[in-house]
Amino acid sequence: MKYLLLPFVLLINAPSFGQSLTLNDVFDEPPRLNESIPAPKDITDVQVGERHWYHYEIVNYLDAVAEASPRMVALGEHARTYGGRPLVSYAISTPENLARLDEIKAARSAIIDPAAKVDLSAQPAVLHMMYSIHGNEPSGANSTPLVAYYLNAAQDAELLEQLADVVIIFNPMLNPDGLDRFAYWSNAHRGMNPSFDPNDREHAQSVPNGRTNYYWFDLNRDWLPHQHPESRGRLSLFHEWKPNVQLDFHEQGSNSNFFFMPGKPERTNPLTPDINQVLTAKIGEYHAQAFDAEGIRFFTEEGYDDFFMGKGSTYPDLFGTVGILFEQPSSRGAGQDTVNGKLTFPFSISNQFRASLSSIKATAALKDELLNYQRNFYTQQKPKRGHYLASADGDPTRLAEFVRILSGHQIEVEVLASDVKAEGKTFKAGEAIAIPLDQPQATYLETLWREQLEFEENVFYDVSTWTLPWAFNLSIVPSLSEITKIMELIFFAYNKPKLISCCGRIPFRVP
Ligand SMILES: [Zn+2]
Repeated sequence: MKYLLLPFVLLINAPSFGQSLTLNDVFDEPPRLNESIPAPKDITDVQVGERHWYHYEIVNYLDAVAEASPRMVALGEHARTYGGRPLVSYAISTPENLARLDEIKAARSAIIDPAAKVDLSAQPAVLHMMYSIHGNEPSGANSTPLVAYYLNAAQDAELLEQLADVVIIFNPMLNPDGLDRFAYWSNAHRGMNPSFDPNDREHAQSVPNGRTNYYWFDLNRDWLPHQHPESRGRLSLFHEWKPNVQLDFHEQGSNSNFFFMPGKPERTNPLTPDINQVLTAKIGEYHAQAFDAEGIRFFTEEGYDDFFMGKGSTYPDLFGTVGILFEQPSSRGAGQDTVNGKLTFPFSISNQFRASLSSIKATAALKDELLNYQRNFYTQQKPKRGHYLASADGDPTRLAEFVRILSGHQIEVEVLASDVKAEGKTFKAGEAIAIPLDQPQATYLETLWREQLEFEENVFYDVSTWTLPWAFNLSIVPSLSEITKIMELIFFAYNKPKLISCCGRIPFRVP
């Protein structure tokens, strides 16, 4: 009898859905809805999950909801892709919070400023929800119409209580060019009755696939260098709102189970505070509850690094934010046969929908802890003295690009006002920079300079080193080997550099 149960257990892991998804499919008891808010199909004539939505359809729908709903405002375009597609975001919360959005935004800067006073109890938490930075992992972006519909139309007292404590910055797709490239492939190659055979042409997009942007760059490795317009806009949005929690929705191999962070503990960035991981695990309890309730399998801590802070779920960890990675097994098309049974696109979308809601619930419940953690991250930093000095030996363009990267991370940079000699090198006035160690973003600055040669594990999913001055071949002091020896950096005691504050804009002559 025991053995006979097995097939039924596997079926529970991948519940079958129809060829599309509505709120009736994801709730046992669908919420009462405000009929003045348009449903997804009202605007696009396509159900969520019926086929892959294109960038313009998702944006058109979300704009329509923002127009109709007092709970959502369009924040406008924060970047435009090489392919000419706008990247847009929205704020979703109670009408009362939206009415004081400017005040809430101003308080975000006060929270990270040790000199500023701020009443945390009067502030909501900010939750940045970001979907599908990899365009061929489309269930995240395709879930956003349904997530937005629910958040705006549902007449649900519990949801309204959560929104009173949370301002959502809703970022529906981070890679529109890649998303559309994949959508065109999948929609064009599926049959009238889609094939579940993994070998079907629908599931094997040719090069370049939709993972990357217009010029085939992986935007989820671009948080550090921010070379691409999507990344620059995304970074500005992050620092504008200084979220407490940042969600990063992805897809993985079709035969896996749903993943959410914490990742593999041994592969956590060494500068990530322990309490960050405690909060990540607490938030994970809410996801676990949501997935357990439906009998949907998931895993945590058995895979995925949280180490390279050029990725969307690790980057925020070094800014007092909690970053969360989600990985849904991919149907890579309308549906595929997997070791767990039939995996459909609507089912994939429903998991991203559930994780979106459990994240809002968790952020509301943990609001005070999250706000206090962010405040303490900046007010309780260990004081440091001294500067890093750097020059590019007569190549101002290279140094200017280095400074641009630092400035994008809100790292303050100054220019030498007089020549400085140190460690046998001469740093010339007006040509060399000095970076104060004691500044709000000291943690991120430290990781850019860090040299790490040994790891607890010899298996790594992703980037394990990125020492930025090396990448730019800069002359620097103290040298990296010295930095690793000295924990408390005190230098230039007798030869203190004279500095001109340059607010991140250095007056180099760029040829
Ligand atoms: Zn991904």
